[in-house]
Amino acid sequence: MKIVFFGPPGSGKGTQAKLLANELSIVHLSTGDILRDKLNEGDSLSFKLKEIMSSGNLVSDEILNQIISKKLMSQECSNGYILDGYPRTISQSDFLLSFAKSNGFYINIIFNFKIDFKIVEERIILRSKQEQRSDDNIDVIKTRIDKYIEETFPVSQFFSKNFSQNFHNIDASQEVSEIQKELMNIIKKAKNK
Ligand code: AMP
Repeated sequence: MKIVFFGPPGSGKGTQAKLLANELSIVHLSTGDILRDKLNEGDSLSFKLKEIMSSGNLVSDEILNQIISKKLMSQECSNGYILDGYPRTISQSDFLLSFAKSNGFYINIIFNFKIDFKIVEERIILRSKQEQRSDDNIDVIKTRIDKYIEETFPVSQFFSKNFSQNFHNIDASQEVSEIQKELMNIIKKAKNK
């Protein structure tokens, strides 16, 4: 099963993606996590990435498309995956769809996490205290949310229009367990189709 998660930073999609990947025994592909791992490599790319990520801006499409195409072709992803944090721009979405077409696969389900931006801000502030993520301080929250609205929201709209049968809006203000149940119900129905 191949699943895409959309949602603003702090919408809880990472938590849900992790739980769902575990439940379905498929890979959780969080581009944020993959990039954060790269920060520890200490090379010139890692310094550049750190600067971009800690400001709340987006890393280049070229780097992301390269990372993702390599991952999607790997053995670990042959059983399925959850894309969490990708595609985040129209250019990434174009790349993913043409990559899917030329490699003969398609996306089974798209979950779009919807939440009030005020709640997002409160959640991110709390997370920054708990996890000490350098991209979670108040100064960069606005940039991260602005980037979501400018770059990623149009991508979710594109998927909602063009893949309406597979596209599901999720109320992300609900409890973690409630959301989990809702996602599993949608997946069960999709499997029985
Ligand atoms: P996340 O953990 O998904 O919020 O990602 C953390 C940061 O990594 C983002 O604020 C971006 O700087 C970068 N990032 C993650 N995924 C992408 C992507 N698909 N395109 C561009 N930048 C990304």
